[in-house]
Amino acid sequence: MIEIQNINKSFGENHVLKGIDAIFEPGKVSLIIGGSGSGKSTLLKCIVGLHEPEEGKVFFSKEEFTGMDFEQRVPIRRDIGMLFQNSALFDSMTVEQNIVFALDMFTDLSKKEKIERANFCLERVNLKDKNKLYPAELSGGMKKRVGIARAISMNPKYLFCDEPNSGLDPATSILIDELIQELTEEYQCTTIVVTHDMNSVMGIGEYILFLYKGEKFWEGSNEEMLRSDVQELNDFVFASPL
Ligand code: ATP
Ligand code: MG
Repeated sequence: MIEIQNINKSFGENHVLKGIDAIFEPGKVSLIIGGSGSGKSTLLKCIVGLHEPEEGKVFFSKEEFTGMDFEQRVPIRRDIGMLFQNSALFDSMTVEQNIVFALDMFTDLSKKEKIERANFCLERVNLKDKNKLYPAELSGGMKKRVGIARAISMNPKYLFCDEPNSGLDPATSILIDELIQELTEEYQCTTIVVTHDMNSVMGIGEYILFLYKGEKFWEGSNEEMLRSDVQELNDFVFASPL
């Protein structure tokens, strides 16, 4: 479980996040949605510690993460798998090497175990036969899947995905969503997905946090969303192509 309380973040004069509270449950995919510039990526970065909020607290399984120093954060960081907006693979490494490199940094496994774990995770995302290829030789959807394989190679308790569907066709996008949902249930991890893809919202939105100009404007399930009378939410939902 992840809990955030009163998160405030500014960049200079720009007050980007204004007092955000939320609880993200394990074994479930939670979505952060909102228009471009509403603060979604910034919120995710505040949760994982890539940004420090000026005010507010982040708890991982009841342990306060904000306020911990770098060393104290290491055990929690080891439990985090992250898929970045652009997949963030190393171009000079093969698919397998990309995952082994991440395991080098975060685990004490032997070389053989790391290679086995990398290939096991590639199999989970249906890419075992691509392990010796370089990122440049893959499609966008395949790169996302490598990013997901790398994220799950840590056996994460917490999985974060920033725009996993960006740049993908609708069919591939649904496959990625299903994979994230399946892995979340399998690993019982607390998963947070940032998206502005309405298909994802309708498909996997059990818990949705809607940000509007840096404020939490609404939270609930996708079914509740369709019945909501919050104007800003409806404007976002109905302006988005399905
Ligand atoms: P998108 O859907 O376009 O990805 P977003 O909701 O993820 O948008 P953020 O990236 O969180 O939006 O940006 C929110 C605001 O914070 C924007 O006004 C942006 O200019 C500002 N911002 C984000 N990161 C930084 C940074 N590192 N330095 C300064 N300003 C930033
Ligand atoms: Mg973003």
